[in-house]
Amino acid sequence: MRKFHVFAVVLSIMLGGLMWSPRPAEAASTSLLAQPVYVEVYANTYYWPVKAGLSVVDKHTGTYLVYGACRAGYRCIRVSERSGCLWLQEKWRCDWIGATYLWSWGAQLYLNSSHRKDGYTKKVIATAHEGGHTAGLIAHTSTCSDVMQWRLPCWYGGPLPPVRFNSSQSAILATH
Ligand SMILES: [Zn+2]
Repeated sequence: MRKFHVFAVVLSIMLGGLMWSPRPAEAASTSLLAQPVYVEVYANTYYWPVKAGLSVVDKHTGTYLVYGACRAGYRCIRVSERSGCLWLQEKWRCDWIGATYLWSWGAQLYLNSSHRKDGYTKKVIATAHEGGHTAGLIAHTSTCSDVMQWRLPCWYGGPLPPVRFNSSQSAILATH
C-alpha cells in the first residue's frame, strides 16, 4: 500500500494564480491484484456526482471502489462538503470547488457546498480532479483542456475539459 504523508498535503482547484508546489513523490504500489479503495461519502450526493467522478479515476488505477466504512490497511477516501475559506497552500483561499488533504490514514476530499448548483459535468470533473489527487496525481497542469488544470476561470465561459486523464496521468494512476 502506498504511504501517505504524515502532514496534510493540500491540493485544490481554485480561482486565481495559485501554483501547486510539488512534494516528493510517493512510493508506487507494486500490487498486481485489484485492491479495494474504501470511500466514505458524507457529501450530499443529490448535488455531487461522487461516484461518477471517482469512477473516472478508478478505471485507471485498477482498483475497485467500495462505498462504505474505511478499513485499516486499505486506501481510504472520505468525501465531505464544506464551505467558506480553507487554508490552502499557505494562504486562506475562498474560491475553490474541491480540495484534497492527504493524511496518514488516507485522503480527505472536500467539495464546496457553495458550488452545489454548478453544472453536472463541471462537478464530475471537479470530483475526478480531486480523485486524481488521491491516487498519485500531485501535479497540476496549466492546460485548460486538462482535468488536472487548476484554474477555475478556464471552466467559466469556455469549454469544459473532457472527463478523462491523458496517457502520462494514466501511467501514474496505474501505479496506485
Ligand atoms: Zn488540484
